[in-house]
Amino acid sequence: YHAKQKGNHYLFFNDSMNEQAVKRLQIENLMRFGLKEDHFVVYYQPKMDIATGALVGMEALVRFITPKKGVISPGLFIPIAEETGQIVEIGEVVLDKACKDVKRWIDQGLFNGRVAVNLSARQFSLPDLTARIDLILQKNQLPSYFLELEITEGTVMDDPQEAISIMRSLSSRGIHLAMDDFGTGYSSLAYLKQFPLNTLKVDKAFVDDMNTERGCNMVDSIVTIAHNLGLHVVAEGVEHEEQLHQLQRLNCQTIQGYYYAKPLSAQEFEQFLRSQHSEKPALQLVN
Ligand code: C2E
Ligand code: MG
Ligand code: MG
Ligand code: MG
Repeated sequence: YHAKQKGNHYLFFNDSMNEQAVKRLQIENLMRFGLKEDHFVVYYQPKMDIATGALVGMEALVRFITPKKGVISPGLFIPIAEETGQIVEIGEVVLDKACKDVKRWIDQGLFNGRVAVNLSARQFSLPDLTARIDLILQKNQLPSYFLELEITEGTVMDDPQEAISIMRSLSSRGIHLAMDDFGTGYSSLAYLKQFPLNTLKVDKAFVDDMNTERGCNMVDSIVTIAHNLGLHVVAEGVEHEEQLHQLQRLNCQTIQGYYYAKPLSAQEFEQFLRSQHSEKPALQLVN
């Protein structure tokens, strides 16, 4: 162990902690470079209406593609970007690219729904958040009607009253709001009804548990709560047909998951949109 004095505190770290710190610093540097060199790319994962099999929207998911280290998973770099604050710039790059792509698909008559973009806690707490979003929408000439923002419980439960007012200002612009990874954080039901949400996304962990009766009951309860609050429900991480059938039985309207489609590059997603247009059965078309 080494000891290092920082103010009045001693920080102890062993070699593996040191290694971790070096890795974080490496990723931080890669992200700084990646922002300059445009290494952040947006993929799109389709959301499907269970009843009709039609595409109803998509989620924009960032991909960090570095020339030297290959693709770095969001699970690895997003938490670091949250800490360093780089997530603000990355998030705006994603929003800008998503707006640009969707604008093009709308203009080409290929799409007429909403694109969902993840909003980090850091972005959510920016005092000029709405102005920043307005600017990106304007720049891309995309009406706010086509945008949905996904936020997590942790983001809004930090200061729920403040969160309500931020959400209201977004919602009043016609932007839809989705609660992401629902059930994994600690949001209280008392607040859930006060948030101006449109959609609740059932976390993949609950969908994974649907092979047990208790797991199914759990999802049933979540869907019922959501519907009682007038919210649309999206189930995340649907991989198997059996899950789809169970979700259908529980009146969940929309699914997102590998069963229907993996996240696709903009080019692949555009092909997907074109194939939907030519009215071939959608379920056979995606990897
Ligand atoms: P999320 O917002 O809950 O996104 C869903 C994640 O589940 C995505 O992982 C997606 O690829 C994955 N997924 C979807 N269907 C399936 C499935 O059937 N099976 C499995 N195993 N996985 C599935 P991804 O793209 O790795 O992103 C992970 C998380 O990183 C996201 O979770 C989100 O919290 C964050 N993230 C991604 N892009 C952004 C972004 O642009 N901004 C911010 N702030 N966070 C982002
Ligand atoms: Mg999400
Ligand atoms: Mg999610
Ligand atoms: Mg998730």
